[in-house]
Amino acid sequence: MGQSNRNWLVRGLDVLSRCLIAVHILLLFRCAEWQVMPAAGVTAACAAAGCIGLRLLRKGHFRAHMLTLYICELIQIIVCVVCMGWSAGFQIPLVGLTLLVFFAEYLGRSLKMPYIPALPLGIVSFAVYLLVFPFFFHKPGLLPVPQSALLTVEIPWSVLVFAAVIAGLRSSVRMTMDSERVLSNEAKTDALTGLYNRDGYDALCAAADLHTTTLLLVDVDKFKGINDRFGHEIGDRVLKKIARSLKQNFRREDSVCRIGGDEFAVLMPNNTAPEDETIREKVMRINRELSNTVDDSLPPVSISVGGAHGGGTEDWTALFRQADAALYQVKEAGRRGFRFYRP
Ligand code: GH3
Ligand code: MG
Repeated sequence: MGQSNRNWLVRGLDVLSRCLIAVHILLLFRCAEWQVMPAAGVTAACAAAGCIGLRLLRKGHFRAHMLTLYICELIQIIVCVVCMGWSAGFQIPLVGLTLLVFFAEYLGRSLKMPYIPALPLGIVSFAVYLLVFPFFFHKPGLLPVPQSALLTVEIPWSVLVFAAVIAGLRSSVRMTMDSERVLSNEAKTDALTGLYNRDGYDALCAAADLHTTTLLLVDVDKFKGINDRFGHEIGDRVLKKIARSLKQNFRREDSVCRIGGDEFAVLMPNNTAPEDETIREKVMRINRELSNTVDDSLPPVSISVGGAHGGGTEDWTALFRQADAALYQVKEAGRRGFRFYRP
């Protein structure tokens, strides 16, 4: 399922569950009007449980939400049995079905396919339930509650229960999406600088168009000396400062990665006509920022940058080699500068 489909599902279910809570509140007034007080009470409890459930969901308490739902179900069964006798037995399959959906959902989450087993099962079991439960209505209850009133209360209530189950599903889809995102971000992010790491760089390359991308390789000049003279901690702070400066000076669509100890890469997509001068000016600006020691009292450093354009290359490895060759030339020429690869 694509990202846009998932978003569509999440938004749709959100609207559905809100509408159904509203329907239940309206129904509460109808029950009071008919003076079917137990039904009115149960309906009120259901609407309240629905609201509490959605609040719990929004806070990510999926299990608490489901528990609210089952407690509410249980109270409804007791009230129905007291008022209508064992004809209220139709509630039992409903509980069974919601439990079934819950466990399918739970299983789906552990299989990392949250929406796959529970959604169709929820829809099918709800349809079966709607077909089956009217047969229970022919038995007389303890109280003379009109059957039409009962039906009017029962159908939206059942719909609400399933909407709540589906809303639970929605939250679970969202939680799974979030955790997937966090996991993939964690795996692709460098802990020190917050930039993409080597894996992130590889993933970005795989998703980018080689022939319109410019790659810059950045290496800190004489960084070993910084560590030796000022210690590793200061070295780390210098790396963070470099990361910040790179992020600030390149465009939002450019991706800055830390691919090694003091090595960075900048992927510049949609760069059909690479302009040496623009990049050179940026590198000069960054080097000016890095030699400014007034604001943070960190030792001054500089970077060397080699660039290459993917236009004439056959793959990402070839592009990397070219940018690395350009970087080597800058180092050879005395560091602190930029050079574009020329064959
Ligand atoms: P050159 O100008 O030729 O690049 O010289 P250099 O001293 O920078 O040499 P090189 O790039 O080979 O050295 C990289 C150094 O970066 C070596 C290592 O001690 C240091 N380093 C690698 N990772 C980290 C880190 O996470 N934190 C700190 N503080 N230092 C690191
Ligand atoms: Mg270096």
